[in-house]
Order: sequence, then structure tokens, then C-alpha cells
Amino acid sequence: MKQHADKKLLLEQNPPSSPMSRPVPFDTVLARARATYLGLAIGDALGATTEFMTPGEIKAQFKVHRKIIGGGWLYLKPGQVTDDTEMSIALGRAVLSSGGWDLQGIADNFVTWMRSKPVDIGSTCRRGIRDYMLKGQLETPYNDWDAGNGAAMRMAPVALLTLGDEEAMSRFAISQAHLTHNHPLSDAACITIGRMIHQAIGSCDRFQLHATTRELVAEYKSFRFNKYQGNASSYVVDTLQTVFHYFFTTADFEECLVAVVNQGGDADTTGAIAGMIAGAFYGLDAIPLRWLKKLNRDVRIEVEQQAVDLAKLSPWSGDPA
Ligand code: MN
Ligand code: MN
Repeated sequence: MKQHADKKLLLEQNPPSSPMSRPVPFDTVLARARATYLGLAIGDALGATTEFMTPGEIKAQFKVHRKIIGGGWLYLKPGQVTDDTEMSIALGRAVLSSGGWDLQGIADNFVTWMRSKPVDIGSTCRRGIRDYMLKGQLETPYNDWDAGNGAAMRMAPVALLTLGDEEAMSRFAISQAHLTHNHPLSDAACITIGRMIHQAIGSCDRFQLHATTRELVAEYKSFRFNKYQGNASSYVVDTLQTVFHYFFTTADFEECLVAVVNQGGDADTTGAIAGMIAGAFYGLDAIPLRWLKKLNRDVRIEVEQQAVDLAKLSPWSGDPA
């Protein structure tokens, strides 16, 4: 009896170190993949309302912003998403129509998307897509100013396509990032988000996710978030600090996203990235039904379908745990 209790205590203190060490049925993987991609779209739609506002302005107008109502500086319809979700969908479509990684196909889809007159497009993304159109350039050169969050926000489909293969995830993360953003802080952010999605879908606990953020901080100290200053700009360091701070200080999907988007700043993108990680971690059942119902129907259908198709294309599906 005593021995049994000790063993239990030991397990609690030392959770299995590998995120993939516990068997996860493939149906669960598919559900978490859908939650990852839905989380992105919901965070985008919810956060777009408070994009570029300060926490004080949000409080004065909404008390707490917690409904998908559209509006914001882009005058969106309720449930409408922005570039964060649209570029992810464009990336996912390219990969799925080629049956695997296809950087040129992704660049072509970004061009098609830019020509469709999207409701919003970041200046760094616009420059990268334009350079591809004019010069066929698939890798933008290093630029001091490329540490925005525009590449990191596209990580959901990359992570789902590469479930079970972290090396491929890192490679694809950087190659898609460099279409528009070439900066070590952006690269590191992309890889960290991808790893956290992989770990969460593999049933890790919060300590393992926190360990992954600590590895990022060990490499680039500027990502430290233990004394969060409340900056939520589109600088990828501010973006990830906001996401990490609220992910680790809240206890469910809804609370996490509400906290993130009420910080304002680049709220659709902090919402989108928090949504991916929290979606992967808390799963489909944790997503409030009222948010799911408000999300644009076509977007909801496409992201759920892409999530399933990408996960089925991933190495994990051939090697179900
Ligand atoms: Mn956006
Ligand atoms: Mn944004």
C-alpha cells in the first residue's frame, strides 16, 4: 500500500518527459487538430474587435470584451476573420492540393489571396508576396524589421501537417516564414508555436508546454514573460509574451482567449495564436458553442476540414499511437 502511494506521488512529481509517450487515439488527435484550427479562427474573429485598442479603451467600451461581434477598425461582420486565418487557409489549401509541402504553391496562393483584396494585410507580408510576384523570390533576405508576428500567425496548418515529425515542422515553419519574414526571433517563435501545438495534441501537460517556452527564453532572453509588462504589439516578442502570460495564468480556453483579446494591441493575432495553442491543449469540447456558432460558416467548415485532412496527411496518421 505504502509502495503504491509512493509510486503515485512519484508519477505526479515526474510526469512522462516525452509528450508522445502516452498513447493518444487518432480520433482524439483529429478532434484536437480541429480545435487547433478553430481556435485560430475564433481568436482572430474575437480579437479583431479590439485590435489596436488599449486595455483602458476596451474596458470603457465593453467592460470585458467576450462576444464575437465584429466591428473594430476593420468594420467586420460578426464572425468574420482577417489575414491571420485567411493566410493560414491559403497555406493549407496549397499543401492539401499538392498532397505535401509545396512552397511555390503556397506563394501562388498568397498571391491569389492578395489579389482578392483582403480586408487586411500586413506590410511585411505584402512586400514578401510582391517580391515573389516580381522576382519569383521564395526567400526574402534577412531584415532587421522582420520580427513581426505575420509568419507566426500561419503556423496552425504547418503544425498539423507535420504531427509526429518535429524536424519537418521546424523546416517547413522556417521556409513558409521566409516567404515574407526573415528574422531569427520570428523563426524561433514559429518553431516554438509548432512545438507547443505538437505537444498539446500529444496530450502533454502545462509543465511540458512551460518547459518549451523556457527553452525559447534560454535562447532569446527577450521572450521572458515572467514579469509581463502588458505590451501586445505585433512585434513577435510582445505577441508571444502576451500569449504565454495569459495561457499560463488561466485555466480554460474561454478564459485564456478573453484575457488575451482584452489586452488589445494586435489582439486578433494574439487571439489567433493563443487560440491555436489553447485549442490544441483544451480540445474541442472546451470551445464555447456560442463562439462556434458565430464564426463565419464557410470559414468554420473549411478550417475543420483542413485540420482533419492535414492531420491525415501527417506522419502521425501512418503511425497511430
Ligand atoms: Mn489580422
Ligand atoms: Mn493582427
